[in-house]
Amino acid sequence: MACDKNHSGLKAIMSSLPTDQGGVGRHKCAACAYEAGYHAGYDIDGTLSIDNVLINLEESQAGAQRHKSPHTAFALGYYNGVRQRTIDDN
Ligand SMILES: [Zn+2]
Repeated sequence: MACDKNHSGLKAIMSSLPTDQGGVGRHKCAACAYEAGYHAGYDIDGTLSIDNVLINLEESQAGAQRHKSPHTAFALGYYNGVRQRTIDDN
């Protein structure tokens, strides 16, 4: 089933990501992967790894996130989540 969330706020970030070269991630929603990574980084939730996130992701929808690498999206989301938490804590 294709993801039906509104990811319009992530368009610029999605456009900056590399295309997934194939494998299990190619048809998963990279925008959802980004949000899961951000959550994992912000909350330092060690149970949220890319592997257990990827398996539960919806299929990608048309738009900027189509065929983008969910692995990269998760990592970038994680990075931004940690960075934002650091800002919010100070
Ligand atoms: Zn999505």
